[in-house]
Amino acid sequence: MKNPWVYKHLVKWMEKNHLSKDTIHAFASRWQTLGDNDSILCPACFAEDEEEHLVAEKVRGEVELLFCVECKNEFEIPIPN
Ligand SMILES: [Zn+2]
Repeated sequence: MKNPWVYKHLVKWMEKNHLSKDTIHAFASRWQTLGDNDSILCPACFAEDEEEHLVAEKVRGEVELLFCVECKNEFEIPIPN
């Protein structure tokens, strides 16, 4: 699986934002198909049936910020130590 740590936190974001279980399951299935060279999917855009990718914006303390240029959402991914 690609980036299980990032995936875990994106799913947490989806749960926190009350996206449906179906959407989260669909995201999980789609994530399983990602290869190492594929981009990280934006969960907010995915919920709108769009596939956009996240770019690593910056590291702030112990958190990496991933940013979606399409929906402008920012995702905080704690850096595992
Ligand atoms: Zn997005």
